[in-house]
Amino acid sequence: MNVDPPNEFGLIDLIRERCTIEREDVKLGIGDDAALLAVPSGQWLAVSTDTLVAGVHFPEHTSAGDIGWKALAVNLSDLAAMGATPAWATLALTLPRADAAWATAFADGFAALAREFKLALVGGDTTRGPLTITVTVHGFIPPGAAVFRRGARPGDGIYVTGTLGDAAAGLFCLGERAHAAGGAAERLIERLNRPTPRVAQGLLLRGRANACIDVSDGLVADLGHICAASSVGAQIELASLPASSALLAAFDISMRARFQLQGGDDYELCFTAPEDGASMLLEDLARSGCGATRIGRLTAGTGVCVLDASGRQIELERGGWEHFA
Ligand code: ADP
Ligand code: MG
Repeated sequence: MNVDPPNEFGLIDLIRERCTIEREDVKLGIGDDAALLAVPSGQWLAVSTDTLVAGVHFPEHTSAGDIGWKALAVNLSDLAAMGATPAWATLALTLPRADAAWATAFADGFAALAREFKLALVGGDTTRGPLTITVTVHGFIPPGAAVFRRGARPGDGIYVTGTLGDAAAGLFCLGERAHAAGGAAERLIERLNRPTPRVAQGLLLRGRANACIDVSDGLVADLGHICAASSVGAQIELASLPASSALLAAFDISMRARFQLQGGDDYELCFTAPEDGASMLLEDLARSGCGATRIGRLTAGTGVCVLDASGRQIELERGGWEHFA
């Protein structure tokens, strides 16, 4: 590693070295004016971009490794929600200064997740400014296999992978009231900093789910996007929302409800599927390493309504995280 501060090109070399993943379909990777990539014939290209801004998308003191992991994870989550197989990424990195130790840890966090999916970093841009990371991911999908937000139908069951609320609870734990969560805080913060994109689960939803979205801004907000795009309503039961043992151990029901309904950053998949065939789909998901839970059903109405254990509708505060609210 450089002891002196590296220049832009030193940083690029450092990132390239630590993120090397060989793929046949990368005809030309980092180093020229553009990458040259071969989309497998007969496949469609799925493309998605997400930006993380320090202090907005992650707390300022988040470790470089966690930021690298998360910058890729949030993007892979979008590919997962479409049912695409990840292949390539580009990385636009804006750094306050050329810090080799930071860039090394960042690249290692990014590469740790990239390796899990044999994803190749094929290019990017490196500039100076307030810490901001933009990743663009590219994946493949057979024509007609993608799962959209707009395909949901009244009568569909509503499902969510994994558990909800951990990331928001982790963010809460980072605040002044960390002691509230005791020993579970560490596990919750880990879920905030190192989300798991549900790529394998997204692939299983092809041709079987009617609609899907990843939960980045909170369940109510993101399920609301499915409802709006599909012109349906959603009824979810608070008691059915899946919670991790860490969340259950650390927070009472009213805090949990807040985190699970309106907290962002979980990166689970929320999908809707016809009752027919749903049990087979759930079995396949459980076998994939991350099961899903039924949390309610779609109606002919509009918007998302949440019912408590006695069937009464819960009043929600604001929907979820929204940047310009
Ligand atoms: P140009 O000036 O032609 O845009 P750059 O000097 O910005 O080229 O980049 C040189 C090479 O390094 C290009 O292949 C570019 O894609 C790659 N690159 C630059 N920054 C990054 C980064 N943060 N991550 C990955 N690749 C990068
Ligand atoms: Mg150039």
